Amino acid sequence: MKIVCETRDGHETLGEIDLRPSKAICVGRNYRAHAAELGHDVPAEPLIFMKPVSAMCAAGAPIYRPEGYERVDHEGELAIIMGKRASNIDAKDAADYILGYTCANDITVRGLQKKGPWLRAKGMDSFMPIGPRIVTNLDPRDLELSVRVNGEVRQSGRTSQFLFSIPEVLAYISKDITLEEHDLVLTGTPAGVGNLQAGDVVEVEIAGIGILKNPVMARS
Ligand code: MG
Repeated sequence: MKIVCETRDGHETLGEIDLRPSKAICVGRNYRAHAAELGHDVPAEPLIFMKPVSAMCAAGAPIYRPEGYERVDHEGELAIIMGKRASNIDAKDAADYILGYTCANDITVRGLQKKGPWLRAKGMDSFMPIGPRIVTNLDPRDLELSVRVNGEVRQSGRTSQFLFSIPEVLAYISKDITLEEHDLVLTGTPAGVGNLQAGDVVEVEIAGIGILKNPVMARS
C-alpha cells in the first residue's frame, strides 16, 4: 500500500513509501474505560493478537460490512510503523526502532469476537484502514484521539491513558516475536466503540497526524 511519510508539519522525509508489513500486531484493552465498557477487568500484561495484512486498506477506501451481524464496530487507534527489525529490545530503546505513526481503525464484528477466535472477527478484508500519512517526528505520549461517525463524536481519548506504554508494548512483543521493518503495531482503543452501518462515514483523527476517513459499504 502506498502511503506518504512526512514530518508533523508536512515536510517530506521518505516521500511515498510502499508499505508491505509482514504482520500487524494489536493490543487489546489498553484503555481502562474501554475494558470496562466490554465488561472486562484490565489485563495484567498486554493482551496481544494479530490482524492479517490482507485486512489493510487506505484512507478513503470502503470498509465492507458483512451482512447478518448486529455490531460491526469502529475502534480508532494509534498505529506504530516499525523502522527496523526489533528482537528482544529494551523498552528504553524502543524509539530507535520506530519509523513513525499513523491512524488505524481496528474494525471488529463484536458478536464473533465474543464467540471464538478473534481472527475472523477482526481479520476480514478491509477491516484495517490505516492512514492518511505516516508522521515520523511525533511524540506519541499524549496525543488526542477521536472517532466520528457521520460527523458525530463517538470515541475520544488520549494516548496518555494507555495501560501499557508504547515502549512497554514493543519490549513485550519483541521478547518473543521479532518485529520486522514496516510491521504495524496497533495500540488499543478508548471507550465509545459502536456499530457502523452501510452508508456511514467513519473518521479517526489523531492530533499531529490527521484524519483517516472511510465510507462503509454493504458487502454483497
Ligand atoms: Mg482494537
